[in-house]
Amino acid sequence: MTEKLSHEEIEAKKRAFDENYKEVLYNIGEAAVKSGRKVEDIRLLAATKTVDVSVINHAIESGIKLIGENRVQEYLSKKDELLPCEFHFIGRLQTNKVKYLIGNAAMIQSVDTIKLAQEIGRLSVKNNTSTDILLEVNIGKEESKAGFMPEEIMEKYHEISEIAGIRLRGIMAIPPVCEEGGEKNREYFRKIHKLFVDMQAQKLDNSIIDTMSVGMSDDYAEAILEGSNMVRIGSALFGKRIYF
Ligand SMILES: *Cc1c(COP(=O)(O)O)cnc(C)c1O
Repeated sequence: MTEKLSHEEIEAKKRAFDENYKEVLYNIGEAAVKSGRKVEDIRLLAATKTVDVSVINHAIESGIKLIGENRVQEYLSKKDELLPCEFHFIGRLQTNKVKYLIGNAAMIQSVDTIKLAQEIGRLSVKNNTSTDILLEVNIGKEESKAGFMPEEIMEKYHEISEIAGIRLRGIMAIPPVCEEGGEKNREYFRKIHKLFVDMQAQKLDNSIIDTMSVGMSDDYAEAILEGSNMVRIGSALFGKRIYF
């Protein structure tokens, strides 16, 4: 849920965003150049869970073009007040909630079962549209995380590419939190990048594999260095989240 904030607190959050945004853009630019790309080659998705709509709208007015929410209910509670902006769904999705996203979400990044892909396809066809999706990979094979296992991704990719109403755009992952620091993290990023390149090589129908959505507040620079071209950033832009 979104926090209830006073006017002063909201103004302070907007100012904090302005500072954070500059720093994030600088870091993205630096990592892009180091990896032989341009800052425009990397898409920044602002992860806006728990963030007040007025702060999100301030972010959009300041240049954020893409936002992501990970709960359908929260998204619906904000949707009507949001300024025009590309929206991606990035959280766990039950098939019975897909209907709220079709026509609203330009992309559903968290497709982790065939059944979910089928439902997205079915409702997209019914609504005369097509929905972009990413396959989520559970790269660390963690019990607590969603996603296809890395070794089944190719097979699932083939299966899902046959479903009408969806267009496959690539891969998304939330790698394990690495206490050992950067190097282990980068190993996960490299594995994801390899899957991304393997998917691109397939050239299947209904797919334009151009998106590797990996990297969050604590590791986006490393993710970009290993080939990510979409980073999903929450707390580094909006400050630490308070859950309640
Ligand atoms: C919250 C969230 C993010 C952003 O996390 P931060 O660590 O705050 O940057 C990225 N991806 C998903 C799927 C999320 O739910």
